[in-house]
Amino acid sequence: MVEHLCVMDEHVIENIAAIRERIRHACEASGRNAGEVKLLLAVKTVPAERIKIALRAGYTLIAENKVQELKDKFDALKETPHTSHFIGHLQTNKIKDLLKCNVACVQSLDRLELAEKLQQRLAPEGKTMEVLIQVNTSNEESKFGVHPSGVAELVRQVAQLDALQIKGLMTIGLFSAAADKVRACFRMLKNIQQEIIALNIPQVDMSELSMGMSGDLEMAVEEGATIVRVGTAVFGQRIYPDSYYWNEKGNQAK
Ligand SMILES: *Cc1c(COP(=O)(O)O)cnc(C)c1O
Repeated sequence: MVEHLCVMDEHVIENIAAIRERIRHACEASGRNAGEVKLLLAVKTVPAERIKIALRAGYTLIAENKVQELKDKFDALKETPHTSHFIGHLQTNKIKDLLKCNVACVQSLDRLELAEKLQQRLAPEGKTMEVLIQVNTSNEESKFGVHPSGVAELVRQVAQLDALQIKGLMTIGLFSAAADKVRACFRMLKNIQQEIIALNIPQVDMSELSMGMSGDLEMAVEEGATIVRVGTAVFGQRIYPDSYYWNEKGNQAK
């Protein structure tokens, strides 16, 4: 099969190169090694064919927000090597479908009930899954995540579930033009990470900090991000506002 690159598709690769450059600059500015920061492509609304452009170029870490989209693209992407994370609000009745789609890590684990349901499905099959604990650092109601004061308790509880391997924390920074307020979210996640590390909870790895998106990745990298999640800056503007993805029902685009 002959596949043509249209101009728009070429842009995907250029855009990714530009993002890697931004990451490199931010690392330099904060004395970090650019190799410490993974670029995760947030591929919501992006068709499988466009995602493949990035995968074939070697950018193989991708994530969806909705189980339905994950399912819809699964067959089209399964022959192209990649690693799949999940970064959206996960309803327990979608777990079964999610687990059919070869997801390596759920970054949005924010409640014990969800952890227990994942454990119930994974354990009988002898499977394990990586998870990040999503923390609500911005105090915005529209965003999910455990309250900062509840992180340690949730980590302790999830650590008891042997099918789940905690790898760190995830947050969505405040949507604000006030840079200091956005930075405060990232700094808070870093501080929580340090507090959890100090608790020395068995079976808990706190090495990953997933924070920073198209608009604020420099700040996140400066504050210690090890994974930045980028969509718009690579694939262009989405038709739906983010509230569509971050609402409980996820079906009211407003
Ligand atoms: C869409 C999304 C991103 C990427 O956001 P952009 O602004 O498009 O880079 C990151 N994290 C989550 C949880 C998302 O839903």
